[in-house]
Amino acid sequence: MKLIADLHPHSKYARACSGQLTFENNTKWANWKGLHLIGTADFTHPFWFQDIKESLTEAGEGIYRYKNEKGKISTWPLFLLTVETSHIFTQNNRGRRIHILTFAPSIEIAEKINEEITKHGGNLMSDGRPMLGLSCKELVEIVWGVCEDCLVIPAHAWTPWFGIFGDKGGFDSLEEAFGEYAKNIYAVETGLSSDPAMNWRIKELDDRAIVSFSDAHSPWKMGREATIFKLKIKNEKLKIDEIGFSFQDIIGAIKQEPESRCQIDSTIEFYPEEGRYHYTGHRNCKVRQSPEETKKLGVICPVCHRPLTVGVMHRVEELAGRTSEELGIRNEKGLVSSGSPPNHPGYRMLVPLTEILAESFGVGVNTQTVLQPYHRLVQEFGSEFEVLLVTEIEEIKRVAGERVGEGVGRVRQGKLVIEPGYDGVFGKVKIWGEEEEVESKQESLFDV
Ligand SMILES: [Zn+2]
Ligand SMILES: [Zn+2]
Repeated sequence: MKLIADLHPHSKYARACSGQLTFENNTKWANWKGLHLIGTADFTHPFWFQDIKESLTEAGEGIYRYKNEKGKISTWPLFLLTVETSHIFTQNNRGRRIHILTFAPSIEIAEKINEEITKHGGNLMSDGRPMLGLSCKELVEIVWGVCEDCLVIPAHAWTPWFGIFGDKGGFDSLEEAFGEYAKNIYAVETGLSSDPAMNWRIKELDDRAIVSFSDAHSPWKMGREATIFKLKIKNEKLKIDEIGFSFQDIIGAIKQEPESRCQIDSTIEFYPEEGRYHYTGHRNCKVRQSPEETKKLGVICPVCHRPLTVGVMHRVEELAGRTSEELGIRNEKGLVSSGSPPNHPGYRMLVPLTEILAESFGVGVNTQTVLQPYHRLVQEFGSEFEVLLVTEIEEIKRVAGERVGEGVGRVRQGKLVIEPGYDGVFGKVKIWGEEEEVESKQESLFDV
C-alpha cells in the first residue's frame, strides 16, 4: 500500500496564506490531488488549534480525519499534527533565520508544546507560522522535553533566507545548528529550491531521509511536492482502517528504523530552477551565472561591481562533499535514482496539471478553460497524481485532447525547456519552447 503525503501545508492563519485554507477545502483538494495524508499545519495557532480540536476526529494513533459540520467523516485524507516555526536568533555572532517543521503524535502533546513555547515567550497568536527568538537547539529542547516521539525537520533546507543550509541566515551543517541534538535530526525537507540530487551531494545527509512537501500557501498548491510512503502489509486487500496505521509508521519510515513496516518509496518534486534564487546573479544588471560560471567569474557583479546574490546551486557547490556527475540516473519511467551509494529513495519531477493545461491552451491557470478539463480528468481517472503518473497518455488525449496528453507525456519524460531563476526573478519551466509553440499554432491553423 502506498500513501502520498504532504506534511507541510499551511492554514488560513499563516502570513501570506490564502483565506481558503480551511479543513473543508484542504480535504476537498487533497482528494482531487490524490493525497492520502496531509499535515494539519499551524497547530501552534490558538484559533486554528481550536479548529483542529473541533474538526478532526481520531482515526488511529496520532492520525486524524476531518469531520464536517453535519458530522460526516471523510475517509481521505488522513491528518497528522504539524507546524512550521520561524526562528530568528544570533549564534556565533551571526544573525540566523531558520524555519523548522515539528510533527506531534497527538493533540494533547501538541497542546503541551504550545504551552511550553508560550512559557518561553513565544507569541503564538501573531502568525500560523510563529516567529520565535529560540535557537534550533532551544526549540528541540522544548519539543523533546514534552515528548521524545516528536519529529523535528529543518524546512526547505536551501532557501537563502530561512533554510538550515541557506546562504543568508543558515549554517554549514546540521551539527553546527543543532549541536549534540543533530543525531536526532533524521531528515531535511528539500523545499521548492532544491531537488534530492542536490541533497545527495551532502555527506552529512547520507544516513538521513530527504523528504518533500509543498509548503502550500493555498489549497490548490498542496502536493506540488510530496513524499510517497510504502506500507508493507501481508494482505494488500486490507483497508487502511484494518491495518492500524499510526503516527509511528510515518516516524519509523523517516527515521529509517529497520523494524518499521513503513518506508519512504520516493518523492515528487517541483523543478527547483523555477525558484527565485537558483542561480547567482543581479536582477537589475541582468547578470545570471551558473555554478560553473560562478566558479570561473567569482561573485562580484561585472556590471555594478557589487556582490552578486548567491544562488542555491552555488551554495550546494560550497557544501558538497561529492560531485554531481556521480549521481542521478533517470529511468524510462522518469524515476531519478541515486545509483551509487548513498542509496537514497528516488524521485520524479512533475509540473502541476493545471499548469500543463494552461500551457496547452495558452491561457492563465485560474480560468475555466483550465478548471473544466482539470475536473473532468480528475473525475475520470481518480486524482491529479493518477493522471500525472499512471494514466495512459492515449486515455488523457481522449478526455482532454491531443495537446494535453502530449504535455503530460513530455513532463513524464522530462522534455522541458528550463530557464533558472536568480536574484528574486522566478525561473521558467515550459513544456514547449517558444519555437515549438509557434510551429504547433501554425499547424492548428492548417487544421482549420
Ligand atoms: Zn518556511
Ligand atoms: Zn550588478
